[in-house]
Amino acid sequence: MTKILVVAEHDGETLNPSTAKCVTCATQLDGAEVDIVVLGKNVSSLAAEAAAIAGVNRVVTVERDDNHPALAAVLAPQVAAVAGDYSHVFGPSTALGKDLMPRVAALLGVNQVSDIMTVEGTHQFKRPIYAGNAVVTVSAPTEQKLVATVRTASYQAADGGNSAPVESLDLDVEIPSHTRFVGVQTGQSDRPDLQTAAKVVSGGRALASEENFELIYKLADVLGAGVGSSRAAVDAGYVPPETQVGQTGQIIAPDLYIAIGISGAIQHVTGIKDAGTIVAINKDEEAPIFEIADIGLVGDLFKIVPELTDALT
Ligand SMILES: Cc1cc2nc3c(=O)[nH]c(=O)nc-3n(C[C@H](O)[C@H](O)[C@H](O)COP(=O)(O)OP(=O)(O)OC[C@H]3O[C@@H](n4cnc5c(N)ncnc54)[C@H](O)[C@@H]3O)c2cc1C
Repeated sequence: MTKILVVAEHDGETLNPSTAKCVTCATQLDGAEVDIVVLGKNVSSLAAEAAAIAGVNRVVTVERDDNHPALAAVLAPQVAAVAGDYSHVFGPSTALGKDLMPRVAALLGVNQVSDIMTVEGTHQFKRPIYAGNAVVTVSAPTEQKLVATVRTASYQAADGGNSAPVESLDLDVEIPSHTRFVGVQTGQSDRPDLQTAAKVVSGGRALASEENFELIYKLADVLGAGVGSSRAAVDAGYVPPETQVGQTGQIIAPDLYIAIGISGAIQHVTGIKDAGTIVAINKDEEAPIFEIADIGLVGDLFKIVPELTDALT
């Protein structure tokens, strides 16, 4: 029997779309019965959101004050306790999921399958390796519980319209005291979130300054797009780290990705493998970004981008 527990990710108010994407992945396993666990403080509206996801059989909630803001060290023993009857435990390959799920696996005494991108069987999956340059098929032992993270860029969110039952659980679990929440610092932006934006405009080292990045923001605003960047642009201090796209940044799958003054290093390209249409603007016609671009414009970004922005305004 394939009973899958999906760990919901949320900010205390709304579910992260990664939850419905994990459900899509989970429902692709033969005979899957998919439950969602929502851990938090006051989770009734989150549980209702989870219960509406198509393909979900049941939602279980675990409420306690320590569960918000979410800390992997605090959530892990609770997820491990809920995992009892399940054959599989899935979480998203987000920053929280990558912190939480290995802890769950360790507490359950099993290895983790990371970054599922394709389901080949109940215990066989495809996942990227070498920064997405190769894909490997992984088989996990069938006699053990299987803990995995799901590469959310590889899946569409499951539809809504369901009304699965919601049950609340009281867990008698010891919570570690070695980790506590101090604070969170994030950049404030009204622009679309990179993970969910249908369009993303990204700038690279070629922008040469924080001020010049205004060109990227202007084009993004005209298009209603999110703003991304290369690591070189982040390292140079032109943009905040949460904009970084790539192996050590965010893995995204927008319908349209515009790479401006970005060379197309493999570590960057791995973050946009699932993008729909890729447009590249680069003055070097030999730049590797053109190998994966659907549309390429060879020329000086300081000329092309303002012209493009004006034309679209
Ligand atoms: C372990 C590891 C992890 C990494 N993770 C990431 C990651 O997550 N994301 C990431 O992005 N990188 C990552 N990197 C870094 C990566 O290897 C590259 O160094 C980086 O992506 C380069 O950024 P860039 O393309 O902006 O800069 P460059 O490589 O310097 O490219 C700049 C480009 O701009 C073009 N250009 C210059 N002037 C103009 C102009 N006026 N008009 C038009 N084009 C112009 C140039 O022709 C060039 O192609 C990682 C590296 C390592 C080792």
